[in-house]
Amino acid sequence: MVLDQNWFTEAAHETGSAFSLSIRQKLLEEQTPFQKLEIYETTHFGNLMVLDGCVMLTTRDNFLYHEMMSHVVMHSHPRPRRIVIIGGGDCGTLREVLRHDSVESAVQIDIDERVTRASEKYFPELCESNDDPRAELKFADGIEWIRQAAPGSLDIIIVDSTDPVGPAEGLFGVSFYQSCLKALAPDGLLVQQAESPLMHLPVHVAMHAALAEAGFSSTHPVSFPQPVYPSGWWSAIIASRSETLPPQRELQVPQESLQYYRPEMHQAALVVPPFLSRAIASGKV
Ligand code: SAM
Repeated sequence: MVLDQNWFTEAAHETGSAFSLSIRQKLLEEQTPFQKLEIYETTHFGNLMVLDGCVMLTTRDNFLYHEMMSHVVMHSHPRPRRIVIIGGGDCGTLREVLRHDSVESAVQIDIDERVTRASEKYFPELCESNDDPRAELKFADGIEWIRQAAPGSLDIIIVDSTDPVGPAEGLFGVSFYQSCLKALAPDGLLVQQAESPLMHLPVHVAMHAALAEAGFSSTHPVSFPQPVYPSGWWSAIIASRSETLPPQRELQVPQESLQYYRPEMHQAALVVPPFLSRAIASGKV
């Protein structure tokens, strides 16, 4: 929703709140086969990508989300070689994953090719690793792709999706998680963006329950700031077949290539606030 021509506002009616960015101009507006895609030039946050009215990323603060969606899980796996990213069409998570030398293949599967083409134009820095020989960009429904993946063939699945509506709805369901579990190697890990622990607690708690129902033995919330998302406080969930996560490995990428992630941040992000652990344990929100 544009309040006037100088502001972009995402109103979260269900939580009675809104977030606005001051804009210079609209750079792109397009109805793709899957969603409405908009790009704005803002006054203070660089470029802004919006899908179906929801903020996806800005130039200024996307490093928080992309680093925490990739490096926490990558440093929690003993040797991540075969990585799949579901969604993530802006290519920022792919770039972070490819910083790890252990990676042999990183396949990004976004349903909407237009998101990637827009990112190449308006967020070129996020796409700078797309030509890495280990990277493969596919444009397909991630739900179907994972269903057909060879059993035990993946070390890490990263679900970097939109909110659980429209084409992403099925990415939050038990049957998708069962397909992920089957596609993962015995020590494989899944990580998925899990909304705001404050604003979307019912969605977050339901994800833990659905992952458990699908057969994952443990689920671990990861929280981090993301100023342009509702409440500014965001989360992911790492799911594993084992009761605990493997020991955190020492830093695998040059610290100077990172802006937020560091070993202490990894530990801090996995600390679960009491209200959240109570809600997850009881299923009550
Ligand atoms: N960081 C963002 C957030 O949390 O709001 C997510 C960014 S990324 C652009 C989300 C991507 O998920 C979109 O490009 C969208 O096309 C993709 N997506 C949604 N449903 C999908 C599905 N079923 N299969 C593959 N990609 C999907």
